[in-house]
Amino acid sequence: MSDVAVTEQDTVLGIDIGGTKMAAALVSADGRTLTGDRILTPAGDADQVFAALGELIERVRGDARPLAVGIGSAGPLDQVHGLVSPVNIPGWRNFPLVDRVRALVGDVPVTLGVDGHCFALGEFWTGAGREADTLLGIVVSTGVGGGLVVDGKPVIGQSGNAAHIGHVVVDLDGEACACGSFGCVEAYASGPRMVTRAKRRGWRTGEDVDAAVLAADAAAGDELALATFDDGAQALAAGIVATAVTVDLTTVVIGGGVSKAGSVLFDPVQAWVKRLAQLPFVTDLTVEPAQLDNAGLLGAAHQAWSAVG
Ligand SMILES: [Zn+2]
Repeated sequence: MSDVAVTEQDTVLGIDIGGTKMAAALVSADGRTLTGDRILTPAGDADQVFAALGELIERVRGDARPLAVGIGSAGPLDQVHGLVSPVNIPGWRNFPLVDRVRALVGDVPVTLGVDGHCFALGEFWTGAGREADTLLGIVVSTGVGGGLVVDGKPVIGQSGNAAHIGHVVVDLDGEACACGSFGCVEAYASGPRMVTRAKRRGWRTGEDVDAAVLAADAAAGDELALATFDDGAQALAAGIVATAVTVDLTTVVIGGGVSKAGSVLFDPVQAWVKRLAQLPFVTDLTVEPAQLDNAGLLGAAHQAWSAVG
């Protein structure tokens, strides 16, 4: 946003695409959400899913003329060609989302980023990381994703997939991971994998329960649940410290459904980080809960503002 005169009324349109919901909002240059809405992600073929998104965009945009559009989407995606194939939106496979959105909004810049990157950028812009300079954002949910901001700039990588923190190997003899490797952070710290590990220990075997129940039991003092959260926390801490010593990190922000567990997750993560982070430049590393409930959307908007000019 270099040489364009930005007025108080100017906005960009941020869009957040997930397997469960889609959100859109007009966002000001200082990160305020002016108007926004969200819908449940519909089932259906490519055009049916896009029709629902298109209606959402039109409704949120109204008479405004956003200077750019920033899209954050669940992956995988092809940033170079503007294609998305979100795992949980089966109707979209190599779907040309950038071109389709551009056809709707006219000739303005349209950016596309992975949801984990947008989460990190949103928290960096106006959330828990706004005092930070070099930040790792982690989303702990059905998987473990994330994004990196180094020296104030998002790290994208040559294919757009930097900061796959969930697939940092932290156990050399570790459990098989969905990615094909073994010993990855995600194999210990994702919600479903924690539930599986707890059941293996004998916790609520035969019951159809999820990570929220595991968190509630841990908070109530259940030893099997606490031990499982401690394993997940240790894996997360190992991934965090590996990243910290690599890029000289100061701040970690953790969000996502599993982070709602609160102290049963954050207390052991912080304790393990303290234990593992021994080099002098990482001993002050802070790990904090996310502050925003729309960090992904704001990060997408931030990328759009960066494209204005
Ligand atoms: Zn993996």
